[in-house]
Amino acid sequence: MIKISSIYLFIILVSIILSPINSFSMIKDTTVIIDSQITFEEAIKGTKAPQNVIANLVFLDVKYYSTDSKLHKGQLIIHKDVKQDIEEVFKLILQNKFPIAKVIPIVKYDWSDNASMEDNNTSAFNYRNIAGTERLSNHSFGKAIDINPFFNPVVHKDGTHTPEKAKYDTTKPGTFSAENFIVKEFLKRGWRWGGTFSSYADNHHFDKP
Ligand SMILES: [Zn+2]
Repeated sequence: MIKISSIYLFIILVSIILSPINSFSMIKDTTVIIDSQITFEEAIKGTKAPQNVIANLVFLDVKYYSTDSKLHKGQLIIHKDVKQDIEEVFKLILQNKFPIAKVIPIVKYDWSDNASMEDNNTSAFNYRNIAGTERLSNHSFGKAIDINPFFNPVVHKDGTHTPEKAKYDTTKPGTFSAENFIVKEFLKRGWRWGGTFSSYADNHHFDKP
């Protein structure tokens, strides 16, 4: 009799001790770190885009594992016609835990492509010209996305990089090469990868012309 009660007591004690640990680890596993949570109006504030361009834009929440190996949530502004592609590519990114540093609308960088790239920020819509030209970039219509730009800098013909201090090492997580599954997935869906551009290798850039 005494023996049985001790076993019960032991079981009760163990469950009391373990229960807070269990609930804590459950909370920890489902926690999402919010990198961006603004409204659409806030995300397009100050853009030079005309109304007919804005009318085709949609907001997309994306989840990804960041460089801290934790689950994060960010926001993308894209053209409605590429929403399905981006949604499905990000599903693959999440499943494979391909690290994405952060995904924050570029308004938070005062529409500065350079500031966003320096911060390794992934973004899509930005009504701007192609760097060094008078031609509108596909980013202007939300049909281009730059992913992990500091890990995947532009490599110019003379060997210099943009961002200047970025290093391009395709053995590191979060980087692109022709063999990378994300690059292959984009190409399969009719997108271009900037890494194969003839004028300079725009390694973080994907677009659907
Ligand atoms: Zn780009």
